[in-house]
Amino acid sequence: MSTEITRARVLESLGLLRLGRIGEQLDALLSTAARGEPTYLDFLDTILREEVGAKQRKRVAMGIQIAHFPAVKTLDDFDFKFQPSVDQKLVRELAVSRYVANAENVLVFGPPGVGKTHLAIGLGRAAVEAGYTVLFTSATALLGALSKAETEGQLAERLAFYAKPKLLVVDELGYLPFEKRSAHLFFQLIARRYEKGAMIITTNQVVTQWGTVFGDEILAAAILDRLLHHSFTLMIQGESYRLKQKRKAGLLGRAEKAN
Ligand code: ADP
Ligand code: MG
Repeated sequence: MSTEITRARVLESLGLLRLGRIGEQLDALLSTAARGEPTYLDFLDTILREEVGAKQRKRVAMGIQIAHFPAVKTLDDFDFKFQPSVDQKLVRELAVSRYVANAENVLVFGPPGVGKTHLAIGLGRAAVEAGYTVLFTSATALLGALSKAETEGQLAERLAFYAKPKLLVVDELGYLPFEKRSAHLFFQLIARRYEKGAMIITTNQVVTQWGTVFGDEILAAAILDRLLHHSFTLMIQGESYRLKQKRKAGLLGRAEKAN
């Protein structure tokens, strides 16, 4: 009887302390402990870790939702052997997300299909897991949102929205050239985030082409100057992963080089 009263009081206390996972798992945790006879300290350790693990999983799931990644990709399912031009050591280092804490940038260059978006999502997820707020957007969606906001007199609010996450991922810069007005809006965002928030930018255009992308050499130089000041570069060369899959399926001719 008194055990029942104690149990009820424990559950109530766990609820008040918002230790929901321990509450849910209480019976299982207690019966495992009864079998293993851990020390008091080990038991405390086990139940606290159970709670911390559950809270961490919840936080990551929420962070991933907020980030709006366009697909589920992780660094673990990136095949570095297929794309040897990718500096795997640098990617592993970046996955620690120190560049996010330091408000530094990562620029990912390469032709279509080589895994730029995959790596950007993977690094974004790693940053969420490290506890940072992340937002993923395509360059087209970003510019669309900024210019709409400008038309509606909401530019300050929109810029604040994109300035807020610790890491902003801008995917596919340069696939479409910017209008002059858009280039200015992009510059404003870069200036806002400079030395305050990290960015990952993926692009199929080498920096010498950025003048064309932004339709203005001086503006492109000003943008690049800020982006590159504290930055890491991933250059990807090689074959499109999508085409490799097709080739494997016999839809395209034989690969020039067996691998
Ligand atoms: P990009 O953004 O450079 O055009 P993506 O990242 O969209 O290319 O890659 C195209 C597809 O191929 C995606 O489904 C991606 O997950 C996959 N992919 C690309 N490179 C690799 C790789 N090295 N290992 C595993 N999957 C890859
Ligand atoms: Mg892409």
